[in-house]
Amino acid sequence: MLTNDQLDQWDRENFFHPSTHLAQHARGESPNRIVKTASGVYIEDRDGNKLLDAFAGLYCVNVGYGRQEIAEAIADQARELAYYHAYVGHGTEASITLAKMVLDRAPANMSKVYFGLGGSDANETNIKLVWYYNNILGRPEKKKIISRWRGYHGSGLMTGSLTGLATFHNKFDLPLSQVIHTEAPYYLRRPRKDMSEAEFVRHCVAELEALIAREGADTIAAFIGEPILGTGGIVPPPAGYWAAIQAVLHKHDILLIADEVVTGFGRLGTMMGSDHYGMRPDIITIAKGLTSAYAPLSGSIIGEKMWSVLEQGTDENGPIGHGWTYSAHPIGAAAGIANLKLIDSLGLVENAGSVGAYLNAQMQAAVGDHLNVGEVRGEGMLCAVELVKDRNATEFFDASEKVAPRIVGEMAKAGVIARAMPQGDIIGFAPPLCLTKAEADIVVEKTASALKSVLG
Ligand code: PMP
Repeated sequence: MLTNDQLDQWDRENFFHPSTHLAQHARGESPNRIVKTASGVYIEDRDGNKLLDAFAGLYCVNVGYGRQEIAEAIADQARELAYYHAYVGHGTEASITLAKMVLDRAPANMSKVYFGLGGSDANETNIKLVWYYNNILGRPEKKKIISRWRGYHGSGLMTGSLTGLATFHNKFDLPLSQVIHTEAPYYLRRPRKDMSEAEFVRHCVAELEALIAREGADTIAAFIGEPILGTGGIVPPPAGYWAAIQAVLHKHDILLIADEVVTGFGRLGTMMGSDHYGMRPDIITIAKGLTSAYAPLSGSIIGEKMWSVLEQGTDENGPIGHGWTYSAHPIGAAAGIANLKLIDSLGLVENAGSVGAYLNAQMQAAVGDHLNVGEVRGEGMLCAVELVKDRNATEFFDASEKVAPRIVGEMAKAGVIARAMPQGDIIGFAPPLCLTKAEADIVVEKTASALKSVLG
């Protein structure tokens, strides 16, 4: 077996890590955790440290680690048929079965599922389909996509543009010109402190209306949003936000894409986040929780309204010129089937609701009154603690102080993994949906003690 030193050297010499400070990593200044194995909510690294993973990888290992049922399903599929493509009407039992299982769990009026590999490529598919749709309808000018500041939709060319976070744009010549951004429904960071939630919703709507008026509704194809902002800070929308936004979209014939890469398959305590917030999307993006990351697989669930137009398009133009070699990969599909069965048989959607509410309530009780906690917020099995310099003035820390990364670092030393979200001092939690109350207690206790050791 390779020694840890050997692996560390090869890693720094050969491996280009995503979302990593490249120079610091090469110099050996950044942490380098080499993960060896995992079970339940715990991961174990090569140095023998066991850590409670309160972020489920990248909020994706929803059923927890080490599920033998999924491992067996993957192995069986690999032995029987590791691969066949899905072009020109080909399929496998696994991909066809999973498509039915996904549709059975989707909101009403959804028609078909296209399978990809990850959330980014699924959103690329969505935007292409929206453009195709408007071309078939004879509206070639109706192409721009509205996204929110702090939305996260991937890091490709189009999806990195949709993402409303500066680090995903800087030095990459993004966003592309077809993408326009609007206000995030982020009540803590509202423009005026005396705004009520209802006033803030009206403000978000007014901003959207103004953007549409400026650009022209006949140039705007779709609005994309996560039911609850994820990577942008784990921020539930204020009450009434989605109903008010949807009314505007409806008025201007703008499609709604619900990016459910994080919220799909139970994380909010409902099967889909759209159900939770009464959203009626035209397309839904799914990934992460579809296979609990046991194999890469994503999907675009297409609503009936769009599907009939897409079909009409192929009658006019021939087969749709869109597809990946690995679309509907049978191993991913086998993992997806076993994963969705486990979510049902273990009651994980319900557990996400009940233990998630417990985690949020305990976190609020433990750190909510701390002078540097601006807000404890969450929904289902998502929770965030936002740190502020002064809670009365809602003054934020300077990024150079690295307050959240320092707290998260202390937590890791104490055996709990949380995530310092990329913009602002926000500690994020998105544990596997199988978290128990006793495990939630550990997460809360380690958060409170790390907060105390860094900020007093
Ligand atoms: N959409 C959302 C809401 C996400 O959170 C993510 C990933 N964090 C993506 C899309 C992109 O998915 P991937 O990293 O699998 O490309």
